[in-house]
Amino acid sequence: MEKLRLAVQKSGRLSEKSLDLVKECGISYASGTGKLLASCYNFPMEILFLRDDDIPGYVEDGVADIGFVGENVLIESGRKVKTIERMGFGRCRLSIAIPRSQEYNGIEDLQNKSIATSYPHILGKFLKEKGVKADIHEISGSVEIAPGIGLADAICDIVSTGSTLLSNGLKEVESVFTSEAVLIGHKGISAEKQHLLEKLLFRLASVKRAKNNKYIMLNAPNKSLQKIIALLPGINSPTVQSLATEGWSSVHSVINEDDFWEKIEALKKAGAEGILVMPIDNLIL
Ligand code: ATP
Ligand code: ZN
Repeated sequence: MEKLRLAVQKSGRLSEKSLDLVKECGISYASGTGKLLASCYNFPMEILFLRDDDIPGYVEDGVADIGFVGENVLIESGRKVKTIERMGFGRCRLSIAIPRSQEYNGIEDLQNKSIATSYPHILGKFLKEKGVKADIHEISGSVEIAPGIGLADAICDIVSTGSTLLSNGLKEVESVFTSEAVLIGHKGISAEKQHLLEKLLFRLASVKRAKNNKYIMLNAPNKSLQKIIALLPGINSPTVQSLATEGWSSVHSVINEDDFWEKIEALKKAGAEGILVMPIDNLIL
């Protein structure tokens, strides 16, 4: 039987979240340290541990069928793969930064400057769109020290908190690209593997939905029930059970995380008491 081969970053900012998702899909694997390939016990899948930069190429070539990788790395690679799903983790942005002491009035200030980056393609496209000619210096690491050592006038690098920029005396002046992790897939995947992929996607969707929702239980006087039920649509409709205390009921439902606190406040106002909120592992519709 064929196995689906998933590429994940071996160690880095995407590793933990990628592997957590696999586990949340109910898939377990032998997690020996330093292994390149791990077999899953209860799903026909193998996990290939790679440097993130290698993932798009491995998926394009079909050495891996699917992989979790940052969009920044994917776009920079120029590899031809399918983007199956945006994952919502690994969010970051690629920005241009210049020394703090320098004035900045707009993108034209970058004209004829030199910019150090590990993302020459993404940066090149951005500058072209803006009609700016600059000299792109491709370097592979420690980009943020380039202006300080006189290697370049500016940098283009990943920023999340800005503290690295600050400690290198830089300030962010242009946002070039926003990124998150994506699930990518090989273009010529076999029918058997496609079937496995769909099974995995079904589980991923359930896990995603579960993360966005909470299970809620509360007690309410019967006279408030109508109002409370109107606030809790649930999957179909909420469950209502009588409490041992006359005139009171317990209401169970599922609520969305987006308007979670507003809902809780409204429920309290409507007369709800003893509100209990619990995480959900899976939510299958
Ligand atoms: P590797 O050894 O696999 O090449 P790396 O050093 O290139 O690792 P990481 O720093 O682990 O890569 O980042 C992996 C990806 O995580 C980035 O390409 C980006 O998509 C994402 N990411 C999310 N937040 C951040 C952040 N604050 N800084 C850097 N990358 C981030
Ligand atoms: Zn990398």
